[in-house]
Amino acid sequence: MYANEMTLSELIGLLQSGGSSSEELTRACLDRIAKTSELGNYITVMNEEAIASARRADEIRRKDGNISLLLGIPIAVKDNIYTRGVKTTCGSRMLDGFVPDCDAVAVQKLKQAGAVIIGKANMDELAFGSTNEYSAYGVVKNALDLTRVPGGSSGGSANTVAAGQVPLALGSDTGGSVRQPAAYCGLVGLKPTYSAVSRKGLFEQSPSMEQIGTLSRTCDDALTLLSVIMGGEGTNGTPDLPMVLNGIVRGKRIGIAKEFLHTVNILHGVAREFTCAVKRLEDLGAIITEVSIPSFYAGLNAYHVLSSAEAAVSLERFVKSNDLSFDTVGAEVKRRMTLGVYVTDGKNYDELYIKAAKVRAVIKREYESALEQCDVLISPTAPNVAMQFGAQSDPKAMHRNDEFLAPVSLAGLPAVSVPFGAANGMPVGIQIIGKRFAEAEILNVGKALMK
Ligand code: GLN
Repeated sequence: MYANEMTLSELIGLLQSGGSSSEELTRACLDRIAKTSELGNYITVMNEEAIASARRADEIRRKDGNISLLLGIPIAVKDNIYTRGVKTTCGSRMLDGFVPDCDAVAVQKLKQAGAVIIGKANMDELAFGSTNEYSAYGVVKNALDLTRVPGGSSGGSANTVAAGQVPLALGSDTGGSVRQPAAYCGLVGLKPTYSAVSRKGLFEQSPSMEQIGTLSRTCDDALTLLSVIMGGEGTNGTPDLPMVLNGIVRGKRIGIAKEFLHTVNILHGVAREFTCAVKRLEDLGAIITEVSIPSFYAGLNAYHVLSSAEAAVSLERFVKSNDLSFDTVGAEVKRRMTLGVYVTDGKNYDELYIKAAKVRAVIKREYESALEQCDVLISPTAPNVAMQFGAQSDPKAMHRNDEFLAPVSLAGLPAVSVPFGAANGMPVGIQIIGKRFAEAEILNVGKALMK
């Protein structure tokens, strides 16, 4: 196996034993990125910077006994997360020349840990979309089947890990943008609890929901990466994380809301794998409990009203203060901006925005009370698997992908998508949702499912 295809835990062992230097590993990753560049995973590849920081990491390893687990480990960063001195476009032409003068807090933390930032990953423009077809810098082709999308909006972040170009990536998730591409690419995608990871230096889109999240091959790797990036400016508490996950679910109560299975057209193969996943947990000694979240069905609409309203305000402010213009933005961003302006205009404000905010409060309450009856909730991540390019040219069809994801964001809860089985030859994702700051719990259930 190539070093760049290994999991983080394997790579930590490799670097610690001297089996590879970080420079060799980084070069292997850059080489793979160059050889498979037709995947379209990157907007910017940071060749020189990456080699320089890999060399620094090798130096530190030689001198210092007490080092971070991420020292010398290559990682990709979604292009809406600020990197000092490196172009940060958010997948938009509008931001083509935008070079932040500071790092996002999460990036600072990666750098302090000695991680090697290898490049800026492709994404749907301004993080709106579920297929990465809305990037101004070209589509991303799913590494498992080049005729299919990788999901979005963190499509490049997921696909670069799936393609064996890097072991880890940061994405961002407002309404599913880490979890859904993880599902489509067969990876682990973690959206932490709202406010556990600093949003300072994350391009502001929908500030009441968005979170930086992780893409990795295993749940243990997600745990390690989260332990490095969490906390710092603007955060409000962090999860208590163990060093390793035991993957034991005996006696755990796994909740399934009955509404989850009576919704949209779930692909037959996804429903089948979901049933198998539940059975697997039961076989491992978990207790399956039925719960109810009646407002589940309203989640997607409330999400669209609230996220569009927030985005319209955030983008307007950014465009004005940076003297930019909206002229170049694509169709999906225009749709969201139009919706955002509409729902906050005049009497619509009460009828739509305030109503959606009330729905959000109900959703939050219902998820929390469901989670009082069990330890975690489980659902499919997406109702489908990665589809062919153009298959969801109707935006409404694309938005329906997020039915299982958006309500969790409204509730601010942590959730992870883990790969489980396949349908139509593509991986299926299972979502595990936890109480606030119960990241270790959901990753542990994920680990059990992946065994
Ligand atoms: N697919 C969702 C949307 O388009 C999620 C976006 C996100 O999480 N950034 O709104």
